[in-house]
Amino acid sequence: MSDQFRFLLGESDIPKQWYNILADFPVEVPPPLHPVTKEPVTPDFLSVLFPMELIMQEVSTDRYIDIPEPVRDIYRLWRPTPLIRARRLEKALDTPAHIYYKYEGVSPSGSHKPNTAVAQAYYNKMAGTQALTTETGAGQWGSALALAANFFDLPLEVYMVKVSYNQKPYRRILMEIFGAQVFPSPTDRTEFGRKILAEDPDNPGSLGIAISEAVEAAATSGGKKKYSLGSVLNHVLLHQTVIGLEALKQMDMAGEYPDVIIGAVGGGSNFAGLAYPFLYYTLTEGKSTRFLAVEPTAAPTLTRGKYTYDYGDTARMAPIVMMHTLGHTFMPPPIHAGGLRYHGMAPTISALVKEGYIHPVAVPQVATFEAAVLFARNEGIVPAPESAHAVRVAIDEALAAKRAGEERVILFNLSGHGHFDLAAYDAYLKGELEDYYYPDEAIEEALKQVPQVERGE
Ligand SMILES: *Cc1c(COP(=O)(O)O)cnc(C)c1O
Repeated sequence: MSDQFRFLLGESDIPKQWYNILADFPVEVPPPLHPVTKEPVTPDFLSVLFPMELIMQEVSTDRYIDIPEPVRDIYRLWRPTPLIRARRLEKALDTPAHIYYKYEGVSPSGSHKPNTAVAQAYYNKMAGTQALTTETGAGQWGSALALAANFFDLPLEVYMVKVSYNQKPYRRILMEIFGAQVFPSPTDRTEFGRKILAEDPDNPGSLGIAISEAVEAAATSGGKKKYSLGSVLNHVLLHQTVIGLEALKQMDMAGEYPDVIIGAVGGGSNFAGLAYPFLYYTLTEGKSTRFLAVEPTAAPTLTRGKYTYDYGDTARMAPIVMMHTLGHTFMPPPIHAGGLRYHGMAPTISALVKEGYIHPVAVPQVATFEAAVLFARNEGIVPAPESAHAVRVAIDEALAAKRAGEERVILFNLSGHGHFDLAAYDAYLKGELEDYYYPDEAIEEALKQVPQVERGE
């Protein structure tokens, strides 16, 4: 075996098609439902929010879907991304395990999110959409979509969770550099925002509220504006499979196949992007790979949420989907620094967890930042706090391999860098972070609010 660190592909190796796991799915995925009628959503309902091409991708069962050349041309600015063997980390841990990571932080906005942002902006431009709306928490998604909208000359309105808008200016500035308009949510621009502000003028905002505002802004624009979502939906996960398709070739270059694949999950897109092209071989050839989806103990959607139909947003305007959920009224605690705050999960990931193909793991935040700092000191890259959840479990797997005396092959997704999240690292280094376990009572309370759906469980 070679002693290589980096496994690099050329521009011609950028995938020409995305992989659609729905072609090989082992079970039926329950359909998304209309938030009012609770009947399966029609393309008509979705077309208020999304261009038809993305709606077709949402429901497609074709195994491969062509990546348009203009999208691939923009991918060429940073793709293929490197696959790196963490040899220095392996040495520091004194483990026989081989640790590989796919590094998506080399994109212009610093995460995997432009992989779908570019595709979504392209299909909207082709469909004649005049402007896009979206929400963002700390700004990873907003800055990715701002980058993409700029490339296709589409104006963009971003509803940014107010507490992040006030405390984290740098990603807002990045969005503004790319020409987006950014508003602190709840705003007085939408009916839902005004309602929230009337009840509570100091409401700090939440992802669920910001989604509702962005959806309303598109739905009431008379067809001029469309809405764009950075995770959860099938077409978003589809676009992210460029990660895993490249990683398959790169693992081949390394002469290995992963025993375990690890990714952090918020809505599930970076995890699915890496995992699904490998899961293909589990589903079709029976390869035995363990897939670990990692979440924070402060927002334990897969490990402690319920698999049920729930609303995608706080205002109950988005479709109802079958997924693991903490309830659409979920508000993560302010002391939680690591992101991954969405109350729900991508329906395909939830279904694969239920069927036992994917195993969820929750990690507390102090151990997560500890792992991220150990990684930074050995590999030289400061992980995004979200990605640090995957780093934690990769290190735990490497230590377990050491105890077992096994040469385990570990692959994880380093979904982004943490250069805009240094305040969270500062809090960790000063000893100010505390672990938080979301209380059972709060989950039970919020789950009383899920919709009653006949066909649900
Ligand atoms: C947004 C984000 C995540 C979480 O979103 P997923 O859709 O679950 O991937 C993870 N890592 C980074 C760096 C992010 O920006």
